[in-house]
Formats: sequence, C-alpha cells, structure tokens
Amino acid sequence: MAELLKGKPVADHITVEITERAAKLRASGVVPTLAIVRLGEDPGDLSYEKGAMKRAAEVGVEVRNVVLPRDAAQDELVAEIKKLNADDSIHGVLMFRPLPKHMDEKAVCEVLDPAKDIDGITSGSLAGIFMDSDVGFPPCTAAACIELLDHYGYDLKGKKVTVMGRSLVIGKPVAMMAMRRNATVTICHSRTKSEDFAAAGKNADIVIAAVGKARMITEDMLGDDQVIIDVGINMDENGKLCGDVDFDREAPDSGLGAKAAAVTPVPAGVGSVTTAVLMKHVIEAAEACK
Ligand code: NAP
Repeated sequence: MAELLKGKPVADHITVEITERAAKLRASGVVPTLAIVRLGEDPGDLSYEKGAMKRAAEVGVEVRNVVLPRDAAQDELVAEIKKLNADDSIHGVLMFRPLPKHMDEKAVCEVLDPAKDIDGITSGSLAGIFMDSDVGFPPCTAAACIELLDHYGYDLKGKKVTVMGRSLVIGKPVAMMAMRRNATVTICHSRTKSEDFAAAGKNADIVIAAVGKARMITEDMLGDDQVIIDVGINMDENGKLCGDVDFDREAPDSGLGAKAAAVTPVPAGVGSVTTAVLMKHVIEAAEACK
C-alpha cells in the first residue's frame, strides 16, 4: 500500500523551525512582516488569506492587509506596490491573482521588488530559479513540492522526475528546482502526444502532476513503486475536491494505491504546505534585510 504523504507534518515541521527564526529576528528588533494585496472579495482569495493570517500569527509574522476594489485603476495598484517596495518594515508581498481583466498583470507584477517577491511572480524571481541564483523566491506551491519530498526523505539526485504541466506557477519552476537537485527531468504538457505522456509517466521514479484536470492521470499512465506528488486541486463531477491523479484515499490498497510507493492526498497534501512555505519565505526575506 502506498505511503500517504500528508502535508500537515511537513507544515508543522517548517512552522516550528521558522517560529524560532522569527523570534530571533524580533529579538534583534526586526518584526518580520508580510503585506497581502487583494482586489475585491473573491471567496478563494479570502479563504487563502484567512489561512495565511492564521499561520502568520502562529509563527510570529506580522500581516498588513492592502485591499483595493476590484475595479481599481492599474495606476492605483502600481502606486500601492511601489509604496510597499519603499517601506523597509515590509519584507514580503503576496498579491492575489489573477488580477482583473482591465489590468496588464505582467506589467503590474514587474513593479514588485524581487527581494520582496515571496511567491515568485516577478521575472526576477523566475530568472533566479532558472539561473540557479538566489534572486527572489520560487512560487510557494512549487517549493512546497520539494519540501514534501525532502521531509519524507526522497532524494532527487539521479532520479527520473516527470513533471506533468508547464505553467509558470508550478510546472516550469518545480522542474528547474528538481534539476537543481540533480534529477533528470521530463516535462509534459497539453501538446505532448498521449503515448509519450504515458511513457514519461511510466518511466519516472517521481511524478509531479500539475495539469489541473480532475483525476486525468490514471493508473495506466504510471509505473510501479513511484512517488507521486499531486498538485491538482479540482472539483470532480460530483462537486468533490480531487487531485489530477486518479487515487482514492478511501481505498488506498487498491488501484493506484496498490501500485505506487507513495502519494500525496488531495486535499491535505501539497496545499497544506503552501502557507508554511509562504511564511518561510517572509522570514528569509526579513533575514536578508538584517
Ligand atoms: P495551468 O496554468 O492551467 O497549467 C496546467 C498545465 O497542464 C499546462 O501546462 C497545460 O499544458 C497542462 N495540461 C492541461 N491539460 C492537459 C492535458 N490534457 N494533458 C497534458 N497536459 C495538460 O494550471 P496551474 O496553475 O499550473 O495549476 C495546476 C493545478 O494545480 C490546478 O489543479 C490548480 O488548482 C492546482 N494548484 C494547486 C495549488 C496548491 O497549493 N496545491 C496551488 C496552485 C494551483 P499547456 O501549457 O500546453 O496548456
């Protein structure tokens, strides 16, 4: 039966470690502070914000909320980001996306100082990942995949890693991060031929699934004894939350559960690690300012 790689123990471990670092920062007169920029009242944003604020309070990170109406002008948002860039008491900035359609999202993201870009939205942060430099930060979800593998003792060195999905938020950065750990990486996407997709899935030691399609990755596309990181958060046809991988955590000893070495559940897998990683990045940004 596959080992269930739950996110909570990983998040708890990170939380303990960064709580100590936050206390040290505070003792030296630096209050690690995160600004959360939100436009409007999207329920998904509000729910993530609530989780992030709870985690911040637990760790000892201060939060400053910047809320603009959904129909705010782009200049208004850009002015707020510039203020946050110039404010030495702010160490990290999280901005909810997608931005409203009347804004040029790429241009707005570029205004943010990469040193405060704790969720990898600027080209400066992405260049940092691709160039193996320490500019900016990787997107939290991509980093959460690596944290999970580290926590459960799966060394990437020399392993065949197949990443399914090539978005800038998950697929591309997690592939680069795996390569930095000396994995041999294959990336698949919607234009990959279905036979190649399945072959890449079967051939891997570790599969990172981030296609955003409910239970699309079925047993026949995967091999034996693999470690499967399921990043997907989707609704199935019955309105139930599920991943990209066709794994039934209620029946972990059948189907994929019987075949894989380890798998992350959805929910309670990768998603549970993301806010802990976010706070870790704020602490790192604050430490860099000391
Ligand atoms: P995205 O921007 O829609 O990217 C999806 C990727 O999958 C694209 O590269 C796309 O290929 C590829 N793809 C789509 N359909 C495919 C198919 N039929 N066969 C092969 N490849 C296919 O999504 P995302 O932002 O990366 O998110 C992926 C999933 O992760 C979503 O379910 C999202 O909700 C979830 N997510 C989870 C967290 C978390 O904390 N756990 C955070 C963020 C997102 P093309 O590039 O060719 O279009």
